[in-house]
Amino acid sequence: MDTVRTLAIIKPDAVRAGNAGKVLSMIEGSGLALEAVRMFRLTKETAGEFYAVHRGKSFYGELLDFMSSGPCIALVLSGENAITRWRDLMGATNPASAAEGTIRKLYGTNVQFNACHGSDAPETARAEVAFFFSGAELPKS
Ligand code: ADP
Ligand code: MG
Repeated sequence: MDTVRTLAIIKPDAVRAGNAGKVLSMIEGSGLALEAVRMFRLTKETAGEFYAVHRGKSFYGELLDFMSSGPCIALVLSGENAITRWRDLMGATNPASAAEGTIRKLYGTNVQFNACHGSDAPETARAEVAFFFSGAELPKS
């Protein structure tokens, strides 16, 4: 199995609540490799571009307000099956349905304020990593 990369984001709710360190610790404990990290605050425009796939959905406007409400931390994780492994560690989108011990179960509040993001497929992972990290910050895989 090949090593792949995925994009993770510790969302503004988790940073604001002081849970970023705990999430990083869970990542380190999971065996996924941490390749790159950046902390920044998105604008509504940049958040809208990142979440363009959800444009037109009922929650899109609120999602942009949320994602631009404070600093977040974007990370590039890698390993065998990293995309699925990170999504498993995050848990279901809605924390109420997320499995025990997952990040969203532990630190999410509701389907919107759910603590973290993860790419959902190889193509989106490549595009999302490139969205936040330049070639100068991360060598080509
Ligand atoms: P995931 O983050 O698990 O890949 P989606 O791609 O479906 O989930 O949604 C992107 C983000 O939009 C979610 O993580 C969450 O913050 C927000 N979101 C999704 N569904 C809803 C909803 N029904 N109401 C409010 N916010 C939502
Ligand atoms: Mg998604």
